[in-house]
Amino acid sequence: IQTGIKSAPGQYEKAYINGQWSSAISGETFDVFNPANGQVVGKVPDMNTDDTLVAINSAFKAFQSWKNTTAKERSQILRRWYNLLVENQNKIAEIMTAESGKPLIESNGEVTYGNSFVEWFSELARQIRGDIIPSSFPSKKILVHHQPIGVVGLITPWNFPHAMIARKAAAALSVGCTVVIKPAEDTPLTGIELVKYAEEAGFPPGVVNIVTSSRENAPDVGRLLCENHLVAGISFTGSTTVGRILYKQCAYGIKRLGLELGGNAPFIVFKSAKLDTAVSSALVSKFRNCGQTCVAANRFLIQEDVFDDFVEKLVERVKLLKMGNGSDTGVQLGPLINQPQLDKVTNFVNDAVSKGAKIITGGRPATHLGNLFYEPTILTGITPDMIVYNEEIFGPVICLTKFKTEEEALQISNCCDVGLAGYFFSEDISQIFRVSKNMEVGMVGVNEGLISCSEAPFGGVKQSGLGREGSHLGVEDYTYVKYTCIGNL
Ligand code: ADP
Repeated sequence: IQTGIKSAPGQYEKAYINGQWSSAISGETFDVFNPANGQVVGKVPDMNTDDTLVAINSAFKAFQSWKNTTAKERSQILRRWYNLLVENQNKIAEIMTAESGKPLIESNGEVTYGNSFVEWFSELARQIRGDIIPSSFPSKKILVHHQPIGVVGLITPWNFPHAMIARKAAAALSVGCTVVIKPAEDTPLTGIELVKYAEEAGFPPGVVNIVTSSRENAPDVGRLLCENHLVAGISFTGSTTVGRILYKQCAYGIKRLGLELGGNAPFIVFKSAKLDTAVSSALVSKFRNCGQTCVAANRFLIQEDVFDDFVEKLVERVKLLKMGNGSDTGVQLGPLINQPQLDKVTNFVNDAVSKGAKIITGGRPATHLGNLFYEPTILTGITPDMIVYNEEIFGPVICLTKFKTEEEALQISNCCDVGLAGYFFSEDISQIFRVSKNMEVGMVGVNEGLISCSEAPFGGVKQSGLGREGSHLGVEDYTYVKYTCIGNL
């Protein structure tokens, strides 16, 4: 397949503000690299608050008419956007692999997944209804409407460069909000590509804007989005550290805020589990995007009766994983996204080993493949004083802990201050109900390692965030409830 990214590496892309493909007002740019080989795959405008202000103003102006479009009109434009995204699936996937390093097969999977949100919200747009609530006063009528909140700022991460934008933007646009998207600095090309199809689909100027900025400018751009009085809300997916900053910045203006932050997913294998299912699910849940997902299984807890069998089967499968440049055929595992990520994973593993963890396989950077590759790794002998026990690894490292009882497994699962996804494997029906009720997370996978889809609510409890994305609940962040009382009838 011939794509722009392959035929013209390093090509200059523009951002999109008020219906115009634009350079930064400052004229600055920044490079986008392929993490598999360090090559420059694109150059984008390095926008700052000056450009962001123009985007906010145009989104506010566009909101005045976009909010008055019919649900049917919005649904049809979203559907056209979806169709274009489907038609251009391969091209989008190749761009994504080039800038994120994820294997092409996964990038294709993400495009399918991301597109499904655009399809879902194009369908949901026309299903959003208000209420008429019976009044206890015969002369009064109680009407309830859902109205769009206005301009929303969407700040997204690099690990799902398409889906995190699509899941937020499609929901916001479907109810009549306008958006200013700030994609991650590592992966802005996929975001720009999505917006090209949004333009072609017919969103009016100012309804969809994308502002690209370097890591240096991101804090100022983020602050402006949070603090400008024309912005009604922010939806953010990323680290808990940045989430906290945005929460604070949104406080003064009491902005609507959706946060999808980090997790520390438990993955429990009980003795009744089908071990082959558990092993396959472990691979999917852990190694997708080289472990760099917020729902990745992070703490593997295996009941002592099946520990040795599970480890044996797991090691066999992990050793077969093919690592390399994501655009090469058959590659299942790509590089980490950047140097800080590689350093973090290396430090986590070294810390565990220095405190007594045993390396079953892997355990070091795969330098023969490039600068950012880390071998798929399995560690046992994990103890609570190790960093890997307490923090999200975001890398291809499986840490295995043995447990005796269900109570112990739940106690370990719940003893952290985040709660996004959790997984467990059991064939005991009572245990399935008990454990899914008692696991302190927003999403539970029972005998399943891949749970996210457009129809289901995605989100966490505790410090994993606020709000839900996808499903019928995914529009709540973008709507106000308006109660109207008609009296003296
Ligand atoms: P990660 O660790 O996965 O890179 P981050 O939370 O640092 O996650 O980044 C997610 C998104 O937040 C990116 O688009 C990034 O540019 C943006 N970002 C980083 N720092 C800030 C900040 N201080 N304010 C607003 N956005 C920020």
